[in-house]
Amino acid sequence: RDEQIEFIKKTIKEKNVRFIILQIADILGSAKSMALPITQIDKILNNEVMFDGSSIDGFARIEESDMYLNPDLSTFIILPWKTHNGYTNARMICDVYMPNGKPFKGCPRYVLKKALEKASSMGFDFFVGPEPEFYMFNVDEKGSPVLENNDKAAYFDMAPMDRGEDVREAITIALEGFGFEVEAAHHECGPGQHEIDFKYADALTTADNIMTFRYVVKKVADDFGLFASFMPKPVEGIAGSGMHLNMSLFKNGQNIFFDENKENGLSDEAMYFIGGILKHIKGFTAITNPLVNSYKRLVSGFEAPVNIAWSEKNRSPLIRIPAKRGLSTRVELRNPDPSCNPYLALATALTAGLDGIKNKIYPPEPVNKNIYEMCLEERQENHIEALPKSLYESILELSKNEIIKDALGSHVTDKFISAKLGEWENYITKVHKWEIEQYLRAY
Ligand code: GLN
Ligand code: MG
Ligand code: MG
Ligand code: MG
Repeated sequence: RDEQIEFIKKTIKEKNVRFIILQIADILGSAKSMALPITQIDKILNNEVMFDGSSIDGFARIEESDMYLNPDLSTFIILPWKTHNGYTNARMICDVYMPNGKPFKGCPRYVLKKALEKASSMGFDFFVGPEPEFYMFNVDEKGSPVLENNDKAAYFDMAPMDRGEDVREAITIALEGFGFEVEAAHHECGPGQHEIDFKYADALTTADNIMTFRYVVKKVADDFGLFASFMPKPVEGIAGSGMHLNMSLFKNGQNIFFDENKENGLSDEAMYFIGGILKHIKGFTAITNPLVNSYKRLVSGFEAPVNIAWSEKNRSPLIRIPAKRGLSTRVELRNPDPSCNPYLALATALTAGLDGIKNKIYPPEPVNKNIYEMCLEERQENHIEALPKSLYESILELSKNEIIKDALGSHVTDKFISAKLGEWENYITKVHKWEIEQYLRAY
């Protein structure tokens, strides 16, 4: 720690840093931050910075609102751009602490750390590589985004069809400035839709990275006069935006999902992990797909999963096992979308997988057929259940799943469920354009 502090102080001097941005995530996964002038650096490094927790969604009641921001020193980074005023700033991601010195149970980072502790008590390190997708739209004269983007390109197209190319390039360079190793950036299926994949890392780093990623993408798109959105299904009739999670468990530097003696190269642990995810998926879909709109992506025909099954080939099921083996053996979970709170999504997915390992939950046979094309009877014969069809159904499933609720802790569970029920109640009071078209004349 002393060395880290020394490094930070030295870097701040060398780069003439003017402000330190302290960043956290609220329960719904929005990034929140506070900028402190560099004069406050000792206070920051001594964990003495306070904020009013009651002003942040789902955090605290007014009576106990004093909270502390304890920066994770390993997340210190010089922002790869200057502010409008020409200053160089630095950023640190924080853990939220209570005045009594204990970690705050409503801090999403704490929830993920608890799940990771459980994994490490079983001897496992959890690694995740995400594949976030997003759209970029034009903005009107007032600066508001519109659902258009002059982009007529499709999957893997090249410029000039794809005018997002310059923006993707700038995003990639900015991400590298944040220390990311970007592995691939490409146009996605939808017009104006893109995907940028970065290298897998331990789950805490990956969750932090997803927060940074969303910020960088929005900021750079804005620099180009575009609006980037991680809304799961912004335009009906074309592909939604997902965030596949490629997950693996390591033990002593070895990927334990790989077993060369097995016909499919997958170890028992990998099979049990899949079994655990399939068992609990309904219970944590509200976390990985947290918006009313998330469920408009989870429909047939757009490469988003609808059914609870796994496959070694096909892309229609919930879980796919990419062909690579050895160190790269991984389980690709395909339902999460980029609007989720990444800390809670990784914590719950890990918890489900570990429960599979602990209880040796063997998954059913893989389904290597296109499930979209199966009729209901065929799915029933194969015991293939559907993912929740709405936010409401997901919330009910979450409220019944003790393992997932336990992983989130009662504070986060209660705040999350009540916020999401409120969102749902609000939604169902609205009369949709579709209903008018279908019903007004007919009845
Ligand atoms: N956009 C698809 C989804 O919603 C994924 C497409 C792909 O990456 N093959 O998950
Ligand atoms: Mg991909
Ligand atoms: Mg994709
Ligand atoms: Mg993928």
